[in-house]
Amino acid sequence: MSSQIDHLLNETRRFAPSADFAAAANAHADLYDAAADREAFWAEQARNLHWHTPFTRTLDWSNPPFATWFEDGELNVAYNCLDRHVEAGLGDRVALLWEGEPGDERRVTYAELTDEVKRLANVLTELGIDAGDRVAIYLPMIPEAVAAMLAVARIGAIHSVVFGGFSADSLRSRIDDAGAKLVITSDGGYRKGKASPLKPAVDQALGDRGHGPQETVEHVLVVKRTGTEVNWEDGRDLWWHDLVPAASADHVAQPFPAENPLFILYTSGTTGKPKGILHTSGGYLTQAAFTNKVVHDLHPETDVYWCTADIGWITGHTYVTYGPLANGATQVIYEGTPDTPHPGRWWEIVAKYGVTILYTAPTAIRSFMKLGRSIPEQHDLSSLRLLGSVGEPINPEAWMWYRHVIGGDRTPIVDTWWQTETGAIMVSALPGVTETKPGSAQVPLPGIGLDVVDDQGQEVGNGNGGLLVLTEPWPSMLRGIWGDPDRFKETYWDKFADKGYYFAGDGARLDEDGDVWFLGRVDDVMNVSGHRLSTTEIESALVGNEAVAEAAVVGASDETTGQAVVAFCVIKESYMKANSLDGLVDTLRAWVGDQIGPIARPRDVYIVTELPKTRSGKIMRRLLRDVAEGREVGDTTTLADTMVMSTIKGQVTKKD
Ligand code: ATP
Ligand code: MG
Repeated sequence: MSSQIDHLLNETRRFAPSADFAAAANAHADLYDAAADREAFWAEQARNLHWHTPFTRTLDWSNPPFATWFEDGELNVAYNCLDRHVEAGLGDRVALLWEGEPGDERRVTYAELTDEVKRLANVLTELGIDAGDRVAIYLPMIPEAVAAMLAVARIGAIHSVVFGGFSADSLRSRIDDAGAKLVITSDGGYRKGKASPLKPAVDQALGDRGHGPQETVEHVLVVKRTGTEVNWEDGRDLWWHDLVPAASADHVAQPFPAENPLFILYTSGTTGKPKGILHTSGGYLTQAAFTNKVVHDLHPETDVYWCTADIGWITGHTYVTYGPLANGATQVIYEGTPDTPHPGRWWEIVAKYGVTILYTAPTAIRSFMKLGRSIPEQHDLSSLRLLGSVGEPINPEAWMWYRHVIGGDRTPIVDTWWQTETGAIMVSALPGVTETKPGSAQVPLPGIGLDVVDDQGQEVGNGNGGLLVLTEPWPSMLRGIWGDPDRFKETYWDKFADKGYYFAGDGARLDEDGDVWFLGRVDDVMNVSGHRLSTTEIESALVGNEAVAEAAVVGASDETTGQAVVAFCVIKESYMKANSLDGLVDTLRAWVGDQIGPIARPRDVYIVTELPKTRSGKIMRRLLRDVAEGREVGDTTTLADTMVMSTIKGQVTKKD
């Protein structure tokens, strides 16, 4: 079977950077030339960090797929994110502009955050946590979450952050897999207008102590956030507010080898069972800081940066905690949901803090599109100067809406492709340099080797689609899957073992200029009468229709065509108010046929009120395929809302 994906959609809109933006931008076109010597380029970026012991070797790739970067160097990750800024006289700069969901606020300076992390590091050591030990962090988006990650890093231990929305079972399996010694949690956090408890899930996850590896947990350190009543196990459970403020704020950051493990993080689980991805210190921090600086065009003296990701995801690790703090940024952190207490909450926060850089996900943008532009229009968004997107392909219409309604047609947009495994951004426009194209993530960053190939690993060339591969090791690459080197090799390296390429699992196309367009996951590609069609292109055509806010497309087995296109669409509220939905299904089928050709016309279009998404907001197409083929729905444990599949099944059968 050929992996060539037929190229369907034709997007010709272009946006050149403004002269003003380009003049002040961190990125310059000569970065690409500078990266001609890849290793020298990354070594230069790494030297922007503080090394207790400078490295002399950059990359060791003699034992692929196991790479080491800056291997004989020593550094302390937390020192780089905190102490060095304070020592440079920036202690009074605000690091975190924290906004709780109920509207409470905290401003934490670099000096204060450093002090808190030093105290917590002393507490961790007193609790018997040594370098290499694992600490699970299960917290809402509060300043203590960032402090916890940094304190673990400071003593050379390994954190495993588990998203606070995960159940006791998910938490237990992650604690077990990592063999965590300590869990840091809170009584709860505020979500959707009320206190939502967290500690009971920890109690439940640790419930069957003595049965299985969760007996590795010796203590649970609990932050008081909501004041909710909690169960207490004496000897095991400890209050943060009893220990941390009382601990000494004297703590000298020790150097650790560049390849010291920094964290384990489980992937979103969009395609299957989450993988415990392992990242190390020096290479990871180098690429996190560099990409945050050039792709987000971060100017720490003047910008107010806001990445809306939860720290439970890789985006929260790299672009809330490590990248921005390594760069000395001032950033907003918001605890709650975007629509509490009103649907303009995010835009109110942008106006209140004067946010200049906003980094978020297509799922959020599409949900704002569904509600309509009148909501953001009630707020002053004129402080924004750069917008970013990550997590899924952004459909050209969503890109245009983001640029126009949120960015006032002023701001460059960077669509950034990367994965938990890559640790940091790999493909993106450089703001101030690249002429942007709605829907295309565009170009590999300087220092990144990337190609689009067929099943045999041959380049497809411009104008063609295929499989995205990374052809060269990069500093923030995963160093393995925790405890499972075989799965690491099988999943990412075996497919193109002879070439030594990393297989990303995403389909992509190179346009005539050589720019990259992501076409969706390879597992989701459809084969209709011998044509391989991309989910992204058909979904983008549907979202381009005035009625549609969101769409998911899958291939369902079909007697005549092998597979048939089946679409699930969520309709915009403004459209529903003004129009009847009669005949809309036929209109949408015809629309796709007109936009991209008869081969792509969906056999079925289902109007639904929601799509199944992971907790990080990504569409889970494999569950919709189960529905489209009339099967029992598969594993739903990583779904954000477990009821959504029965709702969709009801809406699908009603239409039959
Ligand atoms: P799992 O690997 O467990 O199925 P996941 O792939 O959803 O989960 P993440 O590492 O959070 O876990 O997501 C990375 C994936 O997200 C990429 O492989 C790609 O499919 C998608 N993605 C991220 N950013 C973009 C982007 N800008 N454009 C297109 N796709 C993107
Ligand atoms: Mg993945």
